[in-house]
Amino acid sequence: MQCADVIRYLSDYIDQNLSEALMEEARAHLATCRNCHVVLDSTQQTILLYRQQGQRIGMKRAKQDKLYAQLALALAGRADDCEAPTEE
Ligand SMILES: [Zn+2]
Repeated sequence: MQCADVIRYLSDYIDQNLSEALMEEARAHLATCRNCHVVLDSTQQTILLYRQQGQRIGMKRAKQDKLYAQLALALAGRADDCEAPTEE
């Protein structure tokens, strides 16, 4: 599995929606790739934040998807310099 694959599967990985085999591949990559590990970390923190806010303001699923899309876009260009996306 390559970085692009991990990014693509990241939201499903976090939600544990991947098949056992894909989870294993992603885990193996994340264990050896610092970039993706940082990405996973910041994504999880961002999602946690959004979910906490979502409990208060009622975030819709579409917004979460948009967040993932923004992350993937931001990371595709500069994987070693990733920051959480800013709200519009
Ligand atoms: Zn990677």
